[in-house]
This record gives sequence, C-alpha cells and structure tokens, in this order.
Amino acid sequence: MTTDMPFPSHTPDVNANLTEVYKRLTAACNEAGRARDEITLIAVTKTVPPEIIRQGLEAGLRVFGENRVQETKAKWPELRKDYPDCAVHLIGPLQTNKAKEALMLFDVIETVDREKLAAALAREIEKGAPSRPVYVQVNIGEEPQKAGICPREAVGFAALCRQQYHLNVIGMMCIPPVSEPPAPYFALLTKLAREAGLPRISMGMSGDYDIAAQLGATHIRVGSALFGQRT
Ligand SMILES: *Cc1c(COP(=O)(O)O)cnc(C)c1O
Repeated sequence: MTTDMPFPSHTPDVNANLTEVYKRLTAACNEAGRARDEITLIAVTKTVPPEIIRQGLEAGLRVFGENRVQETKAKWPELRKDYPDCAVHLIGPLQTNKAKEALMLFDVIETVDREKLAAALAREIEKGAPSRPVYVQVNIGEEPQKAGICPREAVGFAALCRQQYHLNVIGMMCIPPVSEPPAPYFALLTKLAREAGLPRISMGMSGDYDIAAQLGATHIRVGSALFGQRT
C-alpha cells in the first residue's frame, strides 16, 4: 500500500534532520527558560513509508502522529511488533463511524472537535473499546473551513467531554491560520488549556515549533522537517 504514496524519490536523512530539530528546540527552550524535557516531539509520519519511519524509530523517536485511520491501519501494526513501546497520536479529523477503529489503533486522539464525536467515542468505550486520552481540538483562528471548537467554547466543551461523556480529556491542540504569525494563537491555546486545567498543549509544526515551545507547547508535531517535503 505504501508504494503508491507520493513521496520524494531521494531518501531523507532522518538522523541528521532530527539532530537539527532538537538543536532548534533546545535553543528555543533555553531562550524561554523551559526545560527541554517538558516538550515531547511528535514525529508526523502521514504519507511517510514504513522504511523511512523505521529510520526515525532507530534514531530513538517513539511518539508519532498520523492523520488517517486507514493509513495507520496499513502501516503501524507491523511497526509496533518491532517497537511495542511507541505511541501513535491521531492528529487528523475523525468520522464518528470510525470511532471504534480509532480507539483500537491510536494511543491518543488529539482531534475531538465536536460533541457528536465525543458521544460516539463514549459509546464505543462503553461497549468495550479501550478508553484513550483525548485532546480537544480548538479552531484557534476561528476559520470557517477548519475543524475544531471555537475558542470561547473550548473550556466548556472540555468540561462537557469529561462530565457528560466521561472522556479522559488531558489536553488541547490547534492548527493556527497558515498565513498569519502564529504567536498570538499559540498564546491563546495555552491560556485556554490552563483555564480548563488541562496539562497538555499540542501545537507547533515544522515551520513554527520553536515559537510554540516558547509559548507553552508540551507537544510539538513535526513532519516535513524530519522526513522531507510531502508531495
Ligand atoms: C501534517 C501535520 C503536521 C506536520 O506538519 P509539518 O509542517 O510537515 O511539520 C502537524 N499537525 C497536523 C495536524 C498535521 O496534519
């Protein structure tokens, strides 16, 4: 299934890229007075074939992000056999009819973005699917085309997920608008997560993870800086 995936023909040097990412992350932490180990690097492996993911695993990466249920099902069961201690986060949109599959496949679901999905997850957990830690996805820039709870409803929605649906909500995640400086959006997500009493904050991608780290991220999601441009 991986052979038809678009991917650059040259092989990325994951080890060298990882060293670069750690370097930039450490510099950002130093500047912000944060400890480097407060931040977990989530290696985003959507469209990345297993043989390249293995380079990341060999380099020590253990936390990964994927955005599709089907692709994860095709790649990760095999990889997990060799690396049972790795964790895969769902960072893409989830349809309610795939709630059960997602709970079976992923260790963390970062994209709880509507009540209907919270209800579907709760129903499957009640029926025996494993309960997983979840994050509330916030549409931090209030963009009409983007998924997520709008900022002014995010704290209340996290409480609803906990109280009414008994979900194990542990964090918030966001994807800020692409064409604007991300800093104010990162700062807002951190404020909302603190207000909601949630310890985890997932924000920052290849272009801006250092800024996210300075503004409170506990998890950064980095793909192309590690594995090369997706085509
Ligand atoms: C693809 C993706 C990333 C990683 O993006 P890069 O710019 O390649 O680092 C992070 N978060 C989400 C939700 C994504 O879909």
